[in-house]
Amino acid sequence: MDFENLSSEQPDANLASPEAILHRVFGYDTFRPLQGEVIQEIVAGGNALVLMPTGGGKSLCYQVPALVRPGTGIIISPLIALMQDQVAALQQLGVRAAFLNSTMDYQQARDTENALLTGEIDLLYCAPERLLQPRTLDLLHQASVSLFAIDEAHCVSQWGHDFRSDYLGLDILARDFAQVPRIALTATADERTRREIAERLSLVDARHFVSGFDRPNIQYRIAPKTNANKQLLDFIKVEHEGDSGIVYCLSRNKVEATAKLLQGKGHEALPYHAGLPAEQRAQHQERFLREDGVIIVATIAFGMGIDKPDVRFVAHLDLPKSLEAYYQETGRAGRDGNPSTAWMVYGLQDVIKLRQMLEGSAANDHFKRVERQKLDAMLGLCEITSCRRQALLRYFGDVMEQPCGNCDTCITPPQTWDGTIAVQKALSCVFRTGQRFGVSYLIDVLRGSDNERIRQFGHQAVSTYGIGGDLSVTDWKSVFRQLVANGYLRADPEGYGALQLTETCRPLLKGEVQVDLRQDPVAKKTSAGGKARVRDRITDPTGWEALRACRKALADEQGVPPYVIFHDTTLFDILEQRPASLAQLADINGVGRAKLERYGEAFLSALAELDAASA
Ligand code: ADP
Ligand code: ZN
Repeated sequence: MDFENLSSEQPDANLASPEAILHRVFGYDTFRPLQGEVIQEIVAGGNALVLMPTGGGKSLCYQVPALVRPGTGIIISPLIALMQDQVAALQQLGVRAAFLNSTMDYQQARDTENALLTGEIDLLYCAPERLLQPRTLDLLHQASVSLFAIDEAHCVSQWGHDFRSDYLGLDILARDFAQVPRIALTATADERTRREIAERLSLVDARHFVSGFDRPNIQYRIAPKTNANKQLLDFIKVEHEGDSGIVYCLSRNKVEATAKLLQGKGHEALPYHAGLPAEQRAQHQERFLREDGVIIVATIAFGMGIDKPDVRFVAHLDLPKSLEAYYQETGRAGRDGNPSTAWMVYGLQDVIKLRQMLEGSAANDHFKRVERQKLDAMLGLCEITSCRRQALLRYFGDVMEQPCGNCDTCITPPQTWDGTIAVQKALSCVFRTGQRFGVSYLIDVLRGSDNERIRQFGHQAVSTYGIGGDLSVTDWKSVFRQLVANGYLRADPEGYGALQLTETCRPLLKGEVQVDLRQDPVAKKTSAGGKARVRDRITDPTGWEALRACRKALADEQGVPPYVIFHDTTLFDILEQRPASLAQLADINGVGRAKLERYGEAFLSALAELDAASA
């Protein structure tokens, strides 16, 4: 087979046009929104600050210009552990990519440095601390550099949650390499972080490219916690059996326990947290990336820069501290654009715990105020009765005209009820018992329980004793949760979960305003509906498994994760379109020249075998 004849392009200057490279190297037809503009700007020698949601296609924004412009593109990326896969993925595309980091021995580093100087590398990945070493800067001055790309640029922001002090040194690039275009990229959206990135990386005058932050393929769902373990097991069983996903927990112990729980039910679940030996962490991450259907159970220590495209769900068993964190963590689902779920359960205790942690922390007042606002926004999203996506996007400055239709509140609009009287009773009970008791006790008093403790404190005598018999314990918990979430009650920072009144609750206590409360939905064992699941697209499971096996064999041979060979989406298309020749295969999205050469025949024979078997 003569591969040169497969493509209709002429060997002229257009060969190096961004469009030609997109098609030939990456196998894609068109640029995504903003990609084309960003690439044009960088190719023309300008600077850019790019904000795109996870999965939006940031990498192409620097990879294509690096291939168009003469010289080597230098990519600054915070995570050494992931460089290897990024480089391997590019090499699979036939791109001359390499990295420079502390995992290499002297000779390997020397070889890479020489290749850089002789112009044999198109893209070089490098961690910020390495880049800033005088030796590396010297080297770059001698080399021909086509661009600097600063990935995960929000790491330069002290307000963000991923601050890396090394990033602060990167403004040296603006001064020492004034002629080289720079592009900073992040998925972290808010205005303040963006300003900080622009200032600290000297990109104030650069063009800013901000795309919408919606992730329409992710279904957002937040449910009140009843029995978290059971809820999680049901969710995975009904909607994501065999899928790969991430489960986030706040503590190491809970990570371990949850991983065991899932293993016990036959899932491939692996723990990941900072308390595990580095070697084991690396091994678990590796298995998550390379095997199909692995669930990683992790603290927030896991995830930054994970660009596994086929994570089908992200589950939270504990509330994140801010919407920024929530959006970033849930954003790890569905980078490939296929339907995915962001699922979370939360309860009264979570709300109390987070509020206490915040109030009890030793941080200064200004910092606490910011953190409190962030937590309020997070809790607000949990308790909201309108579209969650609209609220999320509004928080990040995006306007969405219509409710999304793909979040739990859109799919099953929650009912509200007039809680004016209940709220009055609850607040009054807190007041009458001296603001010294936690929720369970308060509910006992409200419902008129007869127990030792109540007798000991003489609380049968208070006026709120037994006035709440009309509501169940669960209902009362929901009332208290909403009161704490909305800031009418606060948890005693000294601990023990005692609830206290805040200033804002006065009009409620007096019954001066009507309060609508959210009616917690009754947990159902069925999926929330909405968009079709990925697996529903597979009408030919035998064919699908055969193609997956073919991909896995090639991946293992090359020592790369399966998605580096082809994405699921490409595999679906191969299965559906049944290409009969290399030329037909080349037309499928995601099949570039290099992959066609390397893997084309293997997939064609897998298809032929399938046909033979079914004939
Ligand atoms: P980000 O870094 O913004 O999270 P990536 O650069 O990893 O996103 O891209 C997400 C996925 O989308 C990748 O699998 C990539 O191959 C794919 N992709 C990017 N641009 C295009 C395009 N123009 N056409 C088709 N697929 C694309
Ligand atoms: Zn919605």
